[in-house]
Amino acid sequence: MSRPTHIALRRGIVTLCRNMRALGLNHGMAGNVSARVAGGFLITPSARAYESMQPEDIVLMDNSGRYEGSLLPSSEWRMHAAILRARKDAEAVVHVHSPYATALSCLRLPIPSFHYMVAKAGGTNIRCSAYAPFGSDELARTMLVALKGRRACLLANHGMICFGPDLDHALLLATEVEALAMQYWLARCAGRPVLLSAADMQLVLARFSAYGKAPQELPEGFVNPLAPPQRRAAPASKRDATRRRRAPVNARPRPKRR
Ligand SMILES: [Zn+2]
Repeated sequence: MSRPTHIALRRGIVTLCRNMRALGLNHGMAGNVSARVAGGFLITPSARAYESMQPEDIVLMDNSGRYEGSLLPSSEWRMHAAILRARKDAEAVVHVHSPYATALSCLRLPIPSFHYMVAKAGGTNIRCSAYAPFGSDELARTMLVALKGRRACLLANHGMICFGPDLDHALLLATEVEALAMQYWLARCAGRPVLLSAADMQLVLARFSAYGKAPQELPEGFVNPLAPPQRRAAPASKRDATRRRRAPVNARPRPKRR
């Protein structure tokens, strides 16, 4: 292979794959990761162990589905290509066979609004796609249906897929969806979870849209339901701050009498 391009992104994909393994999201050689580049995307190779994977093993594919190099792209490249083509808000895609999300997918159960964090995937629930064989065009199609208005979905009798604006956010969403799947599983084992109403979830979605943003980052006229606390002026000098932190002399504990 000639000198690989996008070396920083390739390293990022390799690091993410090892982190997925450490987080318990994937076992063996299951799962795959991709990231958008100009004219196509980078994707993990087929049948390669994450431990020995190197940045140059990451496969470059173009938007027509052709690949470069001697290694085959992941057999699930069609799902990655479909997301990156259909969703302009997707820069990185993570697909895993994490235990709880996969267990729910085998029951064909979507994750409903049992917890407000479900909104992290973009809507009031996390759907489960219809079943289609792995690696197929049909799977890419059924997945896109389940992803409508969402950034994550379960894949029937298979696992979970999600995307984000970069690799870190895509991995974070994968861990959040797996945590939700586990919590939903546990709640179902103990009884019948009480679901949040559509109105409850709309409020959460509005709050998430403003989450972590400074007032100047929000669109004009946006009423922030999660207004941040008032910002206090910084102390005049470091010396003042140190003086303020120091306890008064008469507050020091007296030495014990013998
Ligand atoms: Zn898979």
